[in-house]
Amino acid sequence: EFGEDEGDEEDLEARPAVVTVMGHVDHGKTKLLDAIRRSNVVAGEAGGITQTIGAYQVSTEVDDVERRITFIDTPGHEAFTAMRARGAKSTDIAILVVAADDGVMPQTIEALNHALAADVPVVVAVNKIDKETADPSKVRGQLTEYGLVPEEYGGETMFVDVSAVSRQGLDELLEAVVLTADAALDLRANPTMDAQGVAIEAHLDKGRGPVATVLVQRGTLKVGDSIVAGPAHGRVRALVNDIGEHVPEAPPSMPVQVLGLTSVPGAGDSFLVVADDRTARQIADQREARKRAAAQAAGARRKTLDQLFEQLEKGETQELLLILKGDSAGSVEALEEALSKIDVGDEVSLRVIDRGVGAITETNVSLAAASGAVIIGYNVRAQGKATEQADRENVDIRYYSVIYGAIDEIEAALKGMLKPIYEEAQLGQAEIREIFRSSKAGTIAGCMVLSGIMRRNAKARLLRDGVVIAETDINSLRREKDDATEVREGYECGITLTNYSDLHIGDIIETFEMREKPRT
Ligand code: GDP
Repeated sequence: EFGEDEGDEEDLEARPAVVTVMGHVDHGKTKLLDAIRRSNVVAGEAGGITQTIGAYQVSTEVDDVERRITFIDTPGHEAFTAMRARGAKSTDIAILVVAADDGVMPQTIEALNHALAADVPVVVAVNKIDKETADPSKVRGQLTEYGLVPEEYGGETMFVDVSAVSRQGLDELLEAVVLTADAALDLRANPTMDAQGVAIEAHLDKGRGPVATVLVQRGTLKVGDSIVAGPAHGRVRALVNDIGEHVPEAPPSMPVQVLGLTSVPGAGDSFLVVADDRTARQIADQREARKRAAAQAAGARRKTLDQLFEQLEKGETQELLLILKGDSAGSVEALEEALSKIDVGDEVSLRVIDRGVGAITETNVSLAAASGAVIIGYNVRAQGKATEQADRENVDIRYYSVIYGAIDEIEAALKGMLKPIYEEAQLGQAEIREIFRSSKAGTIAGCMVLSGIMRRNAKARLLRDGVVIAETDINSLRREKDDATEVREGYECGITLTNYSDLHIGDIIETFEMREKPRT
């Protein structure tokens, strides 16, 4: 949605890096953001630091030069994901927080993958090093396995040991951010043009009306500007900075609260300054209409794609066939390229059977109906009788206006579809021949294994005359006087079942396990 033209080379000026903090829950993202804010906020006056607008700027000295860094103060990667999904790139650098006592955890990797997918360089903050159990070199070793090789081991990623509690390492962390930005990115913007950027957070304030925190990405936002933010519009009545001061303008990379919008935009919505209020209203109305149409289209069509996924899940089909239509050859190519990078393993394939520029036509729908393909419309719509025909022939047309929207949805669906399907595999059967009661172990079944094996901790069911009486698992298994992990066919054993003691002589204990079902 951004205009591409940012003016001439000589109009570009250096701007601060914009940083997001990501990582596993409880590894200290909030605490770290807070500690950095307290020690380095640009005009760190006592009154100011209680104000939070969802982003702030800090200042640090690197090689005797004052450098600023903008932090997006919404920990977790929801904000990041929301913005990425809307196609707005808001972050230059990600700080990956890893607690030195816990080490790398699932959400650490998830966060890392988000950053890598968005092509954002990562600085690792090894947090909680004040703790006795901290093991910062373990964290380095673990992340090396995921491709983040520390500089000190000859890699390219800066790792900094920090403590959000004792506040050690904070300056080094800020320095690492600046150095990483200098090495990997060309962070410049034209401050003289009309402002463009992204909304980070927005809400309705009782006294002040809609309030949006925006990050200016290029140009300078000024009081009095006519602005469109997502489907909202208005004229900037006031700008409030990260320490609660009213400011007349905001240059690139500066976060500010905007007052004066007529409604509340969404997090991740882009904003831009336009010529006048009337233009702002027209653009906002159009966006609103587009949003409604897309929502309707998505709602109406969801069912059939779900049906297809269901078929895939049942193994009735192994291929997701797509027809891509887009507004330009470039966008179709980009979409196809992005789709080709979705990793769905080798059980399922994704195949583009036709592609083209322009509206979705009856010919496209006929092909989709004949082949069972789904049509993806990227910034284009169905034309003439194509919609009607699609409804009639049960063809699914999906509309998207950002590539990530399409990719994320298809990827999510395919991944969901690929969740393993388990089936039961019988391990063995044993007949109960005697029953003992022990005060310690409870009711023990003296059994003869008739087929297969009995295995400790395996799932088990009790059958009486072929009828299932109980489903539980094997709590203990003994062979002679010793604990056993497995007892085979033809051997005697003693079995206790978890939470089940109503055993009869002649009952059958059947053991089984759930195995991943091979897809045929
Ligand atoms: P988040 O879920 O990643 O935002 O984690 P929080 O910032 O809420 O921190 C989780 C817990 O770890 C809190 O109890 C913090 O006080 C604690 N914590 C965070 N950073 C440090 C640190 O550097 N050292 C120690 N000892 N505790 C920390």
